[in-house]
Amino acid sequence: MLDETHIRLEAIHYVRQLRERWVAVPASELRHFTAAGHRVHLKGQQGIFKPAELSDPLSVTSTIDSPYHGDPIEGSSVLYDFLPPSREFENEGLKRCAELALPLIYFLQVRRRPNPEYAIFAPVYVVGWDDAARRFLIDLSEQRPAETRAPALTRQLTLPAIRTPGSPQEIRDMTRSFVDTTVQRRLEQVRFRNAVLKEWHERCAVCGLSVRALLDAARLDDESGIALCAMHRRAFDAKILRIDAQGIIHIHLEGHVGEAERAMLVAFDGKKGSGL
Ligand SMILES: [Zn+2]
Repeated sequence: MLDETHIRLEAIHYVRQLRERWVAVPASELRHFTAAGHRVHLKGQQGIFKPAELSDPLSVTSTIDSPYHGDPIEGSSVLYDFLPPSREFENEGLKRCAELALPLIYFLQVRRRPNPEYAIFAPVYVVGWDDAARRFLIDLSEQRPAETRAPALTRQLTLPAIRTPGSPQEIRDMTRSFVDTTVQRRLEQVRFRNAVLKEWHERCAVCGLSVRALLDAARLDDESGIALCAMHRRAFDAKILRIDAQGIIHIHLEGHVGEAERAMLVAFDGKKGSGL
């Protein structure tokens, strides 16, 4: 007999480990995990997901095509729409999570199919809900709700309407004002990587490697970024590799230079980065 609390905590631990490795986690990594030799599913395609092993939901998934995508997260909270009345029991499940202060996983889709990727927040807590607006308020700050918060059964809230920014400038201003929070930083990081990898056609600017899972976005300045493979990203961070304003690669390596160092680093010295 598997302990439900144990499964829930293992699931959260598992996705947090994935997050260490990936800025945005590919869907292929998120199918299931193993708890006490048992395969437990982590998420559904979208919506509120409860694995067979648990009595209450484990995760909530927002897709890129959700009606409010692009604006559901304000500060460190997300307003999450109820599922339709035909699936009221799933809404009830999420309300139970609020009442019991159960930790959940929030998956936010940040890349479209056929190879979707997700930003992960865990543990998150449902703070409350608004039956009139049919919306939950989920806190993504990964902090346990304060003991002082409203006791169980008084989690009915009146949530503000979702703001619809009128202009791109307004969107930018909103984004900037929230940039200090960890949640916004995480999202910013994911979006930056997506944008940079797209701009660089998913290739390392130094060696041309085009395996998305091995590519990172490095910041050149406030405005622009560059796609680098894991190796060249580390070299860039360690200041072994530099790219000047003309796009020329400079390698600064001290000590013995062997075959590997030559092939992977020194060979690119003085060359123009691919696509620069
Ligand atoms: Zn490379």
